[in-house]
Amino acid sequence: MLRGLHRAGYRACVVGGGVRDLLLNLQPKDFDVVTDARPEEVKKLFRRVLLIGRRFRLAHVMFGREYIEVATFRGSGGELEDSGGAVVRGAHGRIMRDNRFGSLEEDALRRDFAFNALYWDYADGRIIDRTRGLADIRRRRLRLIGDPQLRYKEDPVRMLRAARFAAKLECALVRRTAEPIPEMARLLRSEPPARLLEEVRKLFLSGHAVASFAQLRRLGLLCELFPFLQAWMDARPRAEAFLGAALQASDRRLNEGSHASLTFLMCVFFWGAVSMRPGILPGNGKPPGHGQIAEAFRAVIRGMEFGLKPTRKMQADMEEVLARQATLQSARPRRVGQILANPLFRPAYRLLRLRAHLGEVEEERLRYWGKRAATAPPRSWPERGKGGARKAVRRPRREGGA
Ligand code: ATP
Ligand code: MG
Repeated sequence: MLRGLHRAGYRACVVGGGVRDLLLNLQPKDFDVVTDARPEEVKKLFRRVLLIGRRFRLAHVMFGREYIEVATFRGSGGELEDSGGAVVRGAHGRIMRDNRFGSLEEDALRRDFAFNALYWDYADGRIIDRTRGLADIRRRRLRLIGDPQLRYKEDPVRMLRAARFAAKLECALVRRTAEPIPEMARLLRSEPPARLLEEVRKLFLSGHAVASFAQLRRLGLLCELFPFLQAWMDARPRAEAFLGAALQASDRRLNEGSHASLTFLMCVFFWGAVSMRPGILPGNGKPPGHGQIAEAFRAVIRGMEFGLKPTRKMQADMEEVLARQATLQSARPRRVGQILANPLFRPAYRLLRLRAHLGEVEEERLRYWGKRAATAPPRSWPERGKGGARKAVRRPRREGGA
């Protein structure tokens, strides 16, 4: 692949996470290639190439069922004028579309963090470092390239990426990179929900959920994603233990090569807000019904002016898992066999167990379902139906120490 480009007289480099992770002694997820060949030129060089993307045109060079992403060096986009019709900016200076090609030097300056802008050059096997990224690798330092305010305005998701890399790579943000985030966090409100969800999925399903949560909180980003969480945590001192246990369990499952699901963690994050709705946690009154919890959840969603909105499919599953808390807490459950056979029994039971940290579930209830769960079909939620399996992730295997 790299040789193909090189032999045709083009420059071929590996860049980004692949190079960074190798230098940090981590197993890279994938390798991204950059070149001075245009996407159409790449298409001519290899047998099976898909040209994709509107915002950034890319070539996917296919090898069997795998592909390698090949991008062309992008030009600098620091200026606002639309030279060549390539860089288009929307409100707040956000980049909407840009397809201008440029040099490696320009390409490096457009990347987010300095250690993500290291190029391994196929021609001589050397690392090209135009942003002092190697020094950051050595010092485990996360530094945004360029003027932080401007770069976060261009793409607010970089703030979430900062939290993610800090958590995953155990790096410290340099002051200039960290400082503007709490104030600029609001910019995430105009980000498309799908892109936010994608980033949040990476934050919580890479085996570093505990650290990611802590970073998001520290950087003032958590309240933009889950606006109701802080008030609940302030009101319920045991919320910390509940959330911590859920995040830890998710990391543990992924580390063991098992599944974890974002939908389940979303249930955990939303539970607080749902439980604060009237009638859901009655002191000694009548326990809520299935429909009552479902309605409370819908009310929470309706009331969200901003924050991370689950997709419809997620909402449907979340509603069931949350509402099933009523079923699992009822004093004399009927049709136990049916309850156990339902694919949402496992996540609902897991949420019930976590809620013990909040002091909301009696020991006896847990024992009752614990015994029955042991005999229930082991089918777990992520395998269920269409789309479910894709949402579950397996943690990429690591080699060597961190
Ligand atoms: P991961 O291990 O999570 O894949 P990564 O660094 O490879 O980390 P990608 O999202 O795969 O992250 O992006 C590949 C590279 O593209 C990054 O290393 C960075 O150089 C660049 N990049 C990605 N997203 C942005 C962004 N929002 N702004 C600027 N550069 C970005
Ligand atoms: Mg990557």
